Amino acid sequence: MKQLFKILFLIPRLIVNIIWSFLKTILVFTILILLLLFLISPNKDNFTSDISSQLRKIPSFFKSDLNLKEMGRKLATDSYQHQEGNRWETNSAKVYIASTNSTLKEAYQSAIENWNATGSFHFTIVSDQAAANIIATDHSDSQTQAAGVAETQTNALTNRISHVDVKLNTYYLLNEQYGYTQERIIHTAEHELGHAIGLNHNDSEASVMESSGSYHGIQPDDIAAVKKLYSS
Ligand SMILES: [Zn+2]
Repeated sequence: MKQLFKILFLIPRLIVNIIWSFLKTILVFTILILLLLFLISPNKDNFTSDISSQLRKIPSFFKSDLNLKEMGRKLATDSYQHQEGNRWETNSAKVYIASTNSTLKEAYQSAIENWNATGSFHFTIVSDQAAANIIATDHSDSQTQAAGVAETQTNALTNRISHVDVKLNTYYLLNEQYGYTQERIIHTAEHELGHAIGLNHNDSEASVMESSGSYHGIQPDDIAAVKKLYSS
């Protein structure tokens, strides 16, 4: 009986010993590798930042395409919030398309056509940047979780919008790993232009102003919201 207990206790102890010696080996190897890297590093001052930048790459190494696609499905359109009722003086604005990427230019043009077709707001595309109320451009920003952004300048006294910079984020929209279709890119452009019109997010029903995903184009509720905003 005693013999049996001894054997039973021996097994977990053996496992712990194996794990511990494995960890020790890894530790020793890590120290050796770091030491070696330090010795061969041409610029000793940059050594620590080099190491930390290499370490930062490790998580992305394990991130599979599948995870990026999953992330792209849930990616926020943006984190836009402004005061209810902010709008242009009339339901029209001049847009200068500054983006030079053909996919994004086409997306902006489609989005503008789609908004104009609703009759609730009218965008005019202008070729003179200085004459524009809205600048439609792009940027590449990996630090944000947003596929686009609308930076709105509003007169705080009158609640009238005076200028908007709309930016589509190429980092997500044009990286096929995130799985954006042309349709969803157009929805993203429609969404940002929706902010430029004066709309806030709407997650309570099917809406182009849903805060993430860009799965809906302009919906009847969105048109009604614009008409209501400009009715007074
Ligand atoms: Zn938004």
